[in-house]
Amino acid sequence: MKETKEFKTETKRLLDMMINSIYTHKEIFLRELISNASDAIDKRHYLSLTNTNIPTEEYEIKVEANKAERTITITDNGVGMTKEELEEHLGTIAKSGSKEFLEKISKENQPDVDIIGQFGVGFYSAFMVAKKVTVLTKSVNSDKAYLFESEGLDSYSVEETEKDSFGSVITLYLRDNTEDNDYDKFMEEYEIKDLVKKYSDYVRYPIKTWVTKYDPKDEKDDSKEPKTHQELETINSMLPIWKKNKSEVTDEELNNFYKTKFMDYQDPITSIHVNVEGNITYNALLFIPKKPFYDFYSDRDEKGLQLYTKGVFILDKCKDLIPDYLRFVKGLVDSADLPLNISREMLQEDRALKKIASNVEKKVLSELSSMLKNDRDKYLEFYKDYGLNLKYGLYENYGEKKDKLKDLILLRSFNDDKLISFAEYKEKMPEDQKAIYYAVAKDKAAAEKLPQMEMVKSKGYDVLILSDDVDEFMINVLKEYDGKQFKSINKDDLELLNEEESKKIDEMKEEKKDLLESIKTAIPSAKDVILSKRLVDAPCCVSSTGEITFEMERVLKSQNKDVKADRVFEINPNHAVFSKIEDAYKDNKEAGDKLVNILYNEALIQEGILPDDPKAFLNAITDLILK
Ligand code: ADP
Repeated sequence: MKETKEFKTETKRLLDMMINSIYTHKEIFLRELISNASDAIDKRHYLSLTNTNIPTEEYEIKVEANKAERTITITDNGVGMTKEELEEHLGTIAKSGSKEFLEKISKENQPDVDIIGQFGVGFYSAFMVAKKVTVLTKSVNSDKAYLFESEGLDSYSVEETEKDSFGSVITLYLRDNTEDNDYDKFMEEYEIKDLVKKYSDYVRYPIKTWVTKYDPKDEKDDSKEPKTHQELETINSMLPIWKKNKSEVTDEELNNFYKTKFMDYQDPITSIHVNVEGNITYNALLFIPKKPFYDFYSDRDEKGLQLYTKGVFILDKCKDLIPDYLRFVKGLVDSADLPLNISREMLQEDRALKKIASNVEKKVLSELSSMLKNDRDKYLEFYKDYGLNLKYGLYENYGEKKDKLKDLILLRSFNDDKLISFAEYKEKMPEDQKAIYYAVAKDKAAAEKLPQMEMVKSKGYDVLILSDDVDEFMINVLKEYDGKQFKSINKDDLELLNEEESKKIDEMKEEKKDLLESIKTAIPSAKDVILSKRLVDAPCCVSSTGEITFEMERVLKSQNKDVKADRVFEINPNHAVFSKIEDAYKDNKEAGDKLVNILYNEALIQEGILPDDPKAFLNAITDLILK
């Protein structure tokens, strides 16, 4: 008896999307159906291992076209579906059969079968090319067969029928051709072969289709037309793409594989194909997506690579295979040196896995380093989205990985206003330049305005501009590059004056000791007051002393940590303002204190720090105007 049922609401919505789809790659329907067929065979095989009532046979998937009927049929001898399963799996999308099955086998703790992760739109993609779909199926768990039929609108029907063998036969009744869409082409032999090669080459079971063969020439037959016959032939190589030799895989194949497997519509920035044989044997495919995935910045994004053991899928996101800072890398690892029934906990401790993980990291870094060397534009594109990850990687764990990462870091050069590496900075250093200078500023224009830049600029030395929050922390961890110390223009002693100039200021410091003392008492929040060796035209500035810098203070404040940098008020001894202060103190202490406070607060503002008491500061300025 034929029963007609309504699709569930969400299924209707999906079907509606498929039917009205203007998606140009309608061809993926074949990939999806073949992938379902392959899963179904995996499931049957898995069940046959524990249940002797379930026979095994030569597994295969057949793709056949019938031009007279305008149909395409995909046949598998997999697990098949019971009536309930038909209704549950094809009548609704709320549950994914594969997911359920995976849960079941992971509970049983013997993941012994390859169930390639399902993605895309699955079964329903058939409706992108078909006006009617039938599924004739017989489950290995049932002696009855059923026929599911749907035109994809609101309802489907299921009726009991006859079928000799276990498995499913999916028949697509192709839509009529339109101006934009040629559905007939899917019945062509070359098209089927192409699509199977392109999308399903690595499916582990033979995918067969009818192929035209030329008959041997018959001497007696003098007709011009060569005679042909059809043979059922396996089209896919069945070898997973990652197991193939690197030289046998084209970039296009890798890109297509990546896009299908990781559901990206763009080619990756780069693909890395690794075949390693030796102590530990493994194959890996690693990809850097062109753009970070939409949930990359959220907690929902779990890092990890897919893990296969001897070609059998084990784990979707094995986080132990990739360090945190390379979390953007997508890909998979397949090794013959890991046990099949390994648990997540055991994985963490597995020596082979650790070794593979460290190799994977090395491969990615060496790929990046050659990209920087050979294709800078590409590296810059990469760096724009992922540079921050490298910086964090360098900073993490007290710089444990600094030597691996320092040459991949780029920072903005003040002189050239473009991103450069530490090596490139060092290369351009004049001989007399002792240190690598950096300034914390959002960009070149902001750095330009820093009074602390004056002396370095006047020497023509380049300055690296640190604009990301993590930058200064990273530099602190690095301390030096290739024998050259990093010096902050707003903190460290820049050692830019010659001996004579420096001595002059030191003498002056002695001479003006009392004055400097008065200034210090006037601004209790400053840790020290000194005569500056870094200013040229500016009257004064504030710098920091000790571990915490102004930038760190700002970053820590944004994390609700109230840690302050120790402020040093620096006065330019050669500036007219200095004598003004001296004169003011000669007049009276109050006038001196007031002037010092104004100048100190101005210097803080210059540094991006608001005065503690803005009102008092503004009043002081007003008083000055009125004087
Ligand atoms: P997914 O495969 O992602 O779960 P689909 O919509 O493609 O989603 O398929 C839904 C379910 O229908 C599958 O999980 C599976 O249980 C079942 N199914 C689909 N095709 C077959 C098939 N050829 N043989 C057996 N079961 C199938």
